[in-house]
Amino acid sequence: MVKEIKNEKEVYFECEACRLLYKEKSWAIKCQEWCSQNKSCNLGIIKHVIKDGK
Ligand SMILES: [Zn+2]
Repeated sequence: MVKEIKNEKEVYFECEACRLLYKEKSWAIKCQEWCSQNKSCNLGIIKHVIKDGK
């Protein structure tokens, strides 16, 4: 399952396989599916990752 992370302003979604954060749940779900099946990261997906502090 994708995990919801909340701070004061926003909600993020974490891929529990690779711990990357996404603003859109649909990307987190795609990442989770990819990570669990392929055990590697998909560049087309991880370009949607939120960088810390932004
Ligand atoms: Zn992932």
